[in-house]
Amino acid sequence: MFTSLSNVIKLMVTMKLIILSSALPADNYWNNRAAILHEEEVLSLGGNLTFLPGERSANNILMTLKKKEIDEGFVKPSKFLASNNFIKAKNEIEKSDVFKIIKRMPKGAVLHSHDTAIVSVDWVYNVTFLDNLYVCDSNDKLLLHFFDEPKNDCDWKLLSDLRKNTELLGDLDERIFQKMTMVVDDPDMAYADVDTAWTKFMDVFIFIEPLLTYRPVYEAHYYEGLRQLHEDNVMYLELRSLLPTLYELDGTTYTPLELCEIYKNVTDKFKLDYPDFIGAKLIYAPLRFMSIDELKNAINETNKMKLKFPDFFAGFDLVGQEDKGIPLITYADELKKMSNDIEMYFHAGETNWYGASIDENLLDAVLLGAKRIGHGFAIVKHPKVLKMMREKNIAIEICPISNQVLGLVKDLRNHPANILFSEGYPVVVSNDDPGIWGGKALSYDFYEAFMSLMSRNADIRALKQLAMNSITYSSLNEDDKIKAMDLFNQKWLVFVDELNS
Ligand SMILES: [Zn+2]
Repeated sequence: MFTSLSNVIKLMVTMKLIILSSALPADNYWNNRAAILHEEEVLSLGGNLTFLPGERSANNILMTLKKKEIDEGFVKPSKFLASNNFIKAKNEIEKSDVFKIIKRMPKGAVLHSHDTAIVSVDWVYNVTFLDNLYVCDSNDKLLLHFFDEPKNDCDWKLLSDLRKNTELLGDLDERIFQKMTMVVDDPDMAYADVDTAWTKFMDVFIFIEPLLTYRPVYEAHYYEGLRQLHEDNVMYLELRSLLPTLYELDGTTYTPLELCEIYKNVTDKFKLDYPDFIGAKLIYAPLRFMSIDELKNAINETNKMKLKFPDFFAGFDLVGQEDKGIPLITYADELKKMSNDIEMYFHAGETNWYGASIDENLLDAVLLGAKRIGHGFAIVKHPKVLKMMREKNIAIEICPISNQVLGLVKDLRNHPANILFSEGYPVVVSNDDPGIWGGKALSYDFYEAFMSLMSRNADIRALKQLAMNSITYSSLNEDDKIKAMDLFNQKWLVFVDELNS
């Protein structure tokens, strides 16, 4: 009796479940759809921030402009700026109303940028008008160097003398300018693959190095880099430097430790001149083509800098074209011995390859305890590493324009970091080497990320979260982070007010 009654009850429950489950999708289709979209919005970068007073109306202004620009691109895809190479699109981007708003927005910090590439090319070109600059233009060589008296190793001529005689000068000025920049009329044609882009990229660095490493110019260049960031509403910088050998006209040169001090002194001066700029820190980033002995030396220099400038010196990285460089695994045993005081900020996974030592650098970077990862372009191909990155709260420094100009992705809508934005991973957006490809400061990269790496629906909260992330994932200590966040919030309120008015 009891058995048959319980069977009947079971049967009734089962039938009810069948009825419910077949009815659920039909009845709740629209609710489910809305719920899924809402959950995705909350999951995405900035999606769980609540609107503060004034932010919703400011957001309406921003989003009307953003959607208008994207929808025009939808009608004419070739006109969508973020799908075009930045070198070609730059002038049009400057006309975008969204870009103009982003320029005015406080953006927090730049956490991934390189020493001799932080200043726009027009400023670098103007350095060639300083006294004592010599040029050697012979045997297919074009070299610049400051001297009191030129050496005998090349046919050096004073550039200012050549400029007094247009016949002697010829097209020299134009050739000098072209060697300082990757900007060309047709970048897609000029830089057909990653290697051609990197060859020109490195040629620019090599050409400008003797121009910029004259100590007075180096100081002025770094100061100008800070000024361009400040003008672009950035308030803090973590700079990677090769720590090249600076020189004086009398032949004096400087050690890495002395250069670290020069950086610190210029930073302190800049903070005095611009009190709302909170500062900068230095990451020593030598080239990833070193022997083990050279790496040991670099680690030795790193320890000295950390000891002497514990608050200014932030940590260690290795740079250069990762596809051609020595993988981190080769250096792992030495790097494991680094003191716990030294934070690591490795470039890793800046590649299109999959299953190579280059993308596996991501695994080594995480295992070696990296605080942040530069680029991480290949991270979505490594689900386990991606999971560890989230658990350990390691931020990825995404540099959209760099990845495009250096040939990893043509159309930024296809940049793999869109997954990191849609799933709310710890990310920051940075500018890498803006001076080399005709860029300046940070706003262009924020624009590209906002318009193409994030959803059409990603709003002002995503931009705010990006700026806040740049403080959260910086190497500032906890007290300084609180102060920086307070200052950011004050600037943010002013920006929201201005946007509303
Ligand atoms: Zn970089």
